[in-house]
Parts: sequence; C-alpha cells; structure tokens
Amino acid sequence: MCLYRQVRNVYTRCGHGVTLPDEEIKCDLVQCKFSTTHPKTCKPPSCRRTCWQYRQFPQQYSPNINALCPQCSSSGRT
Ligand SMILES: [Zn+2]
Ligand SMILES: [Zn+2]
Ligand SMILES: [Zn+2]
Repeated sequence: MCLYRQVRNVYTRCGHGVTLPDEEIKCDLVQCKFSTTHPKTCKPPSCRRTCWQYRQFPQQYSPNINALCPQCSSSGRT
C-alpha cells in the first residue's frame, strides 16, 4: 500500500537539519484506494470492505551528509 516518505537531511559539518517535502510512494495494488491501479468503479461502501483505506505509516529517513547545509554553504562559511 502507499505511504509517505519523509526525509530529513542532517548536515554533519554544521549540525543543521533540512526537512525535505514529503514524497508519496505509490504502490500498484488493486486493493489500495490510493493506488494508480485501483479501479475507478470501486467506491464506498464496497471499497471500504475490500480495499486499504489508509496509507502505511510514513518511512522516515535522516541520512547524515558530510557537508554544510545549503544555508550555511550559501552564506559563505567554511
Ligand atoms: Zn497503495
Ligand atoms: Zn476500492
Ligand atoms: Zn547549517
């Protein structure tokens, strides 16, 4: 089923974090209400019985990047 991916880049050279916009990850399950393959004809109340009505819990990533964050690097600090 579909979910959101939330990424927060952590820049280790200045310690700042930058949260990126949520990214929606689509699945291709027919039984998922948010999927691109979910039939348009499948509507509540039957959809509610047969299909996923919720997205999965968001995946959260916070990769460490060995650099200055964009703000610090644009302000010219070394
Ligand atoms: Zn889905
Ligand atoms: Zn449905
Ligand atoms: Zn910074």
